[in-house]
Amino acid sequence: MSGPLVSDDVIVGWETHPFYSGVLKAMEKAGTAIQLDRNVYNRLAKPKRVLYVSVPVRMDDGTIQVFDGFRVQHNTTLGPAKGGIRYHVDVNLAETSALAMLMTLKNSLVGLPLGGAKGGVRCDPNKMSRREKQALTRRYTSEISMLIGPEKDIPAPDIGTDAQTMAWLMDTYSTQFGHAVPGVVTGKPIEIGGSLGRVDATGRGVVYTIIEAAKRLKMDLSDKTRVAVQGFGNVGYHSAKILSSVGCTIVAVSDVSGGIYNPKGVNLEELRAYIAKNRTVKDFPGGDFVSNEDLLELDVDILIPAALSGQITEKNASKIKCKIIAEGANGPTTPEADKILFDKGIFTIPDILANSGGVIVSYFEWVQGLQKFFWSEKEVNNKLWEIISNAFNRVYDFHTASKLDMRHSAIAVSLEHLSKAMLYRGFFP
Ligand code: NAD
Repeated sequence: MSGPLVSDDVIVGWETHPFYSGVLKAMEKAGTAIQLDRNVYNRLAKPKRVLYVSVPVRMDDGTIQVFDGFRVQHNTTLGPAKGGIRYHVDVNLAETSALAMLMTLKNSLVGLPLGGAKGGVRCDPNKMSRREKQALTRRYTSEISMLIGPEKDIPAPDIGTDAQTMAWLMDTYSTQFGHAVPGVVTGKPIEIGGSLGRVDATGRGVVYTIIEAAKRLKMDLSDKTRVAVQGFGNVGYHSAKILSSVGCTIVAVSDVSGGIYNPKGVNLEELRAYIAKNRTVKDFPGGDFVSNEDLLELDVDILIPAALSGQITEKNASKIKCKIIAEGANGPTTPEADKILFDKGIFTIPDILANSGGVIVSYFEWVQGLQKFFWSEKEVNNKLWEIISNAFNRVYDFHTASKLDMRHSAIAVSLEHLSKAMLYRGFFP
């Protein structure tokens, strides 16, 4: 046997990774606008804590496969670290760290008493059986269990993970104590302490921010409003479904295999049923094929990237035609593309604002779990609306006063709050 045990693209340097350095640059620009204390910036430029784990799993064919996994806690000034767990073939340390940094900024922006974290395992969950995924989740949980806990670090779902994954995580963690510890994770099934409204919270939050943006831009949301959604998983599906219930027409959606375009509107429930059977949107009869690249350039009013990072780049930004981009995904737009979109007058609702509904309702789930007192779905949605529309308006007001774009305005508003908290707590020693 020869070759490195862990390949270079698994453990890559933070500063050289385009996603990580993009978030840093954005933080630097926003920081300059608010005269951010340099010591605060220096502290935030690196994660607080990084754990690499190797995760052995006996596969169905009898072999042992060893997966690379991470848990990164970026900052815990405001409270326990919080952020999702991703199962995807491209997971690496720098991407996980960039996502953890975004979680710190997101949680501070919307005023949650939580820090930022992210985790992930480099694997292809679509090619694994249920038994293999359960074994992976349980072993990964036990490897990161020294970091997580209801008062320390609370994971949640992200790409490739779902409520079932969170249930296995909670069960594995709880076995150490001999009793159920629901507060260790959010996005759980309702039956074991999940919150009503959590499953569609990220998509609902995306739609709430679009409603606020449309008000400010004096744009009607009606059946004439055409929407394209990239990624038809948790965030993409629920954003599309809720936006269509508001009256908009969803003309295109996609998953990793490509997309479907129908100018009269894609029937979302038929598509959902088709995906349940075929595990892909490919060859769905209710529309024409459109590639993921072409979907981004369709002539629509609203574009929702809800898949991976780095989808809107300097190569395609000038061809994008929509009025509003609502970032369901984390980091879908590169800094170079941001500038092109801003110059074109496209209004971007940045990830840390647009997709914050997920962590807001995760926070509600955590609080309900700690108090053992559960809320109605209406209460959850009302409180979500209150928090996210308030955050939108604070960012929009900063944007109009400073003339910075919405992304840098959101980061600036977040840093104003976080830096005060960091300076009150001080740097030890
Ligand atoms: P998911 O696994 O439920 O769905 C991901 C979707 O993206 C799938 O339809 C998949 O086929 C598609 N996809 C994967 N690779 C693609 C590619 N190269 N091109 C186009 N589509 C591709 O994941 P999710 O939870 O919906 O997360 C989607 C995005 O939203 C991620 O960026 C995630 O970080 C972000 N996000 C999720 C939550 C949440 O609560 N789940 C909260 C905030 C942000």
